[in-house]
Amino acid sequence: MRHRLPPPRATAISASSRGVRPSASRPAASTRSSIKRLPLVTCRSRSEPSAWPLANMRTRAVQDGGSFIINGTKRFITAAGRADYAQLMAVTDPEKRARGGITCLAVDLKSPGVLLERQWPAMMGEAPWQLVFENVRVPAANVIGVVGAGFSLAQKWIGEGRIRGHGARPVGIARRALDMMIDYGKARVTFGRPLADRQAIQFMIADSAMELHGVRNMVYECAWRVDRGEDVRDLSYMVKVMATEMASRVVDRAIQVHGGLGLMKELPLEWWYRQIRSTRITEGANEVLRWRLGQNIIRAHR
Ligand SMILES: Cc1cc2nc3c(=O)[nH]c(=O)nc-3n(C[C@H](O)[C@H](O)[C@H](O)COP(=O)(O)OP(=O)(O)OC[C@H]3O[C@@H](n4cnc5c(N)ncnc54)[C@H](O)[C@@H]3O)c2cc1C
Repeated sequence: MRHRLPPPRATAISASSRGVRPSASRPAASTRSSIKRLPLVTCRSRSEPSAWPLANMRTRAVQDGGSFIINGTKRFITAAGRADYAQLMAVTDPEKRARGGITCLAVDLKSPGVLLERQWPAMMGEAPWQLVFENVRVPAANVIGVVGAGFSLAQKWIGEGRIRGHGARPVGIARRALDMMIDYGKARVTFGRPLADRQAIQFMIADSAMELHGVRNMVYECAWRVDRGEDVRDLSYMVKVMATEMASRVVDRAIQVHGGLGLMKELPLEWWYRQIRSTRITEGANEVLRWRLGQNIIRAHR
């Protein structure tokens, strides 16, 4: 059976020369109370063409009476084409930046000045968007948290997301790939013996089982610490790097054990191979997390 993501929901968008603008057919929802009541779809708008990490972003939100005026470009924004609101990070104080100068705002995507400029089809089957904000006026009531708290909110949300999407999900994929490797190894006979009788195959199964076991326990520990309210920043870096690289190796081995069949779209392996490849880049590239982790470890070492 295929393990495809559901197709994107139908979107109501209208074309323009530079891109597409969200339709104004949805009901207006510009106050905090209406945000809570309506079943809204949101997208997370952090990344920019010229800036990662967050601290270097260029999108500005300038206060003007009871509103903020937003200008900037966000790139690779998942689900923007079907979202009602963007959970947007913007610089409100260029001097402070990560230290109290970044603010999170809920931006109604049907506001004048919002442009869905283009889509970026990706190898994983999804197509995130590039969003342009040109003098978009957002009520100050749409600030999420308080002004200047955006960076710490983003750190918290990204950390928790890493545990789920870049920790638990790779563990699940690796577990299923290992099951498939074992099942196929027992069933497939080459040169008069099942593959599972060969040491080369047994080593791939053993390595995969060991790595999976270790990473699964890391994910559980990290999730448990989050539930206890602990700061898991460094542990979440470790989980993300270890889980995504472990699952990449396990899926790769599963494809190898399946031979030519492993490359076929009949099986989910090639699909997982592409999905898992992306997780070493998204939510912070593994090199960046290793770099940050190393700095934190050295700083904390006595
Ligand atoms: C399919 C998809 C969906 C996405 N969805 C969203 C979304 O919904 N919302 C959102 O805000 N963002 C989203 N993103 C953006 C994503 O989070 C970024 O692409 C990712 O964090 C990497 O940033 P970048 O592309 O700017 O790479 P860059 O920062 O340009 O880095 C490129 C490469 O350089 C290396 N590198 C960079 N810095 C260092 C360093 N300090 N030391 C060593 N090596 C380094 C790494 O190998 C890295 O892969 C999405 C991306 C993709 C591909």
